[in-house]
Amino acid sequence: MGTTARIRLPAGFAGLEQPETWPRPGWAPRSDRLEAPVEVVEGVGPAVRRRLARVGLETVGDLLWQGPRRYERPLERKRICDLFGEEDAALEVVVRSTTSRRRGRLHLLTARVADDSGEIKATWFNQPWVGKRLEPGVRLRLRGRANRHGFAVSSYDLGDENDTSDFAPVYPATEDLSQKKLRDVRDQALRLVRDVGDPVSASLRAREGLPLRADALAALHRPRSLVEAETARMRLAFDELLVLQLALARSSGERERTVADPLPPAGELLVRYRAALPFVLTADQERAIADLDRDLPRTLPMQRLLQGDVGAGKTVVALYALLRAVEAGSQGALMAPTETLAEQHFLTLDELCSGLGVRVSLLTSSVAAREHAAVRQLIASGDAQIVVGTHALIQEEVDFRDLAVAVVDEQHRFGVGQRTALAEGRSPHVLHMTATPIPRTLALTIFGDLDVSELSQLPAAQKPIVTRWVFEERAAEAYTRLTRLLREGRQAYVVCPLIERSETTRARAAASEAERLRAGELRGFRVGCLHGKLRPAERRELMARFKAGELDVLVATTVIEVGVDVANATVMIVQEADRFGLAQLHQLRGRVGRGAEQSYCLLVSRPREELTESAIERLEALVETADGFELAERDLEIRGEGQLAGARQSGLSDLRFVRLRRDRELLERARDAAHGLEGEGLLEGDVDRLLGEAEHLGES
Ligand code: ADP
Ligand code: MG
Repeated sequence: MGTTARIRLPAGFAGLEQPETWPRPGWAPRSDRLEAPVEVVEGVGPAVRRRLARVGLETVGDLLWQGPRRYERPLERKRICDLFGEEDAALEVVVRSTTSRRRGRLHLLTARVADDSGEIKATWFNQPWVGKRLEPGVRLRLRGRANRHGFAVSSYDLGDENDTSDFAPVYPATEDLSQKKLRDVRDQALRLVRDVGDPVSASLRAREGLPLRADALAALHRPRSLVEAETARMRLAFDELLVLQLALARSSGERERTVADPLPPAGELLVRYRAALPFVLTADQERAIADLDRDLPRTLPMQRLLQGDVGAGKTVVALYALLRAVEAGSQGALMAPTETLAEQHFLTLDELCSGLGVRVSLLTSSVAAREHAAVRQLIASGDAQIVVGTHALIQEEVDFRDLAVAVVDEQHRFGVGQRTALAEGRSPHVLHMTATPIPRTLALTIFGDLDVSELSQLPAAQKPIVTRWVFEERAAEAYTRLTRLLREGRQAYVVCPLIERSETTRARAAASEAERLRAGELRGFRVGCLHGKLRPAERRELMARFKAGELDVLVATTVIEVGVDVANATVMIVQEADRFGLAQLHQLRGRVGRGAEQSYCLLVSRPREELTESAIERLEALVETADGFELAERDLEIRGEGQLAGARQSGLSDLRFVRLRRDRELLERARDAAHGLEGEGLLEGDVDRLLGEAEHLGES
């Protein structure tokens, strides 16, 4: 009865007298609190902060957003007298006494522990500090494995700690942070979990049956069951896929507004190119080339992904695309992620092109300013028909007279936002090359606006690489095998450990390792040393000598990871292989097996007891399979969504929570949801970030 008109609104509430900025309501999520450094968390001092920083955990938010790799499985509680053979079990015991000793680099802490049924020796590896907590009489819960020596402890609890509980999270391990610490800091950080807010509207959540984001994060870290953990993971994966789909929609809209030069059909230059190749193309290569032939005559800029495992022969296809540009009187550019790789590509292309009368230029940032200017002049005038350089260089500094085709190698990114900085409204045709294998059907859905060509067979000449894993104490056998192959006329790589952080110290370590080997295992052989601190001219000369057979062995840092191609090099030793990532080892291994001879990859690691669980899984995976698809999936599983430093090695690094194989249906759902959301402004910030980051990638 007109009463509503008389209700007086409190001043300032939806009324006219709005304050300039609203005070923050007490209950609103405060995302700024998640930006706080990890030190605000109880139990994190400067030392722990440094260790966390080393694995990329710097803020409270980082702690929350890096989930566990897996969860402890539920275990039966046993009495000591019921333990039988090798079995996993949980015990409740009292400490009787402790002793500790060293065995090589291994620290062993042994406690005699008892329950009312008997006594057993429980052992902790490399955790000397635990000893201080184990006074006689202390009550403990243990989780671990019974064996003939006693009980190997994997986790323990005193008082009301909960590390031994079923489904306790297991985080990506580091050598100087215990699971206990990693769990403890997470438990503390979870107090701020409400501050993550939720970018997905309540109605969409209801429609999709999604839990709140904060609840999902809490359950991710401390689930009560595996079902709960999986529901949580899926919610977080959904967000990632939604952002990705929104970004794709935006960037494909932009692509449609640009035009490319349509290229005339392939002619005489390409006929000569095929004739000059020392082999016939594989069926997959032919198919990829046919794909290019269809794309290039269009005015819609080509956006094609060429994927194929290491050694699949992508370069030959890429050069075909570049030569199509040259034949049309335009230019082609090949952009590599690193200078070394750019140089390698240059050597390969230059060799093939010189016979065709095509001029290739290398543009690096390390040449003198004058030479640099000269190369840029060649590019601007069109005298350089094909230009090879790093992404950053080509995208930012160079004026092409007429760039028609760009090949982007290993940018390790999804297809979003990979727009080259070019004149408004115009774009070259772009071919992206990647060795990060994503199953084709998935790639199609995920890349959205990228077309995909796949090289799935290796060129017929290549034999599968034999991979062996040996421990350091038997490293001598690896070198025996290597020197035997050297005597047969083959060449070899020795990859140095990854321990050092800076390129300078790493170079020094490689140099001294080369010295050591020259005097020791590799005496009498010609040993070169390749590292990132060599000047480009020195590096090129070294590679040329190795290629010419003037060196038997290259001792190298990971600079040989991609691109190096010497068919006579058939054996590789990777020292301290446990320190490398799976994708990286797979790439390294791809440096051998490039000719018709049988090739070998010998992985040398520290003793098994000293390795983290994930290191063991990685090395086992490499020995078991050479299939890049398989390894990419295993890598994701092993790393979980936890992204450690160096995540960029894998192109899947934007998706922390998504499991590509498992989440197909979720992907479809996210795509449908994204269609409904276009223009709603939801998640725009995340989309901006994704596209913005992708644009700046080449610079790092
Ligand atoms: P990737 O896909 O890793 O870039 P490359 O293009 O470097 O592979 O090719 C790997 C090796 O295989 C090179 O030595 C190349 O010359 C050779 N190769 C490429 N295509 C064929 C083919 N059709 N038959 C035989 N060898 C080939
Ligand atoms: Mg290659």
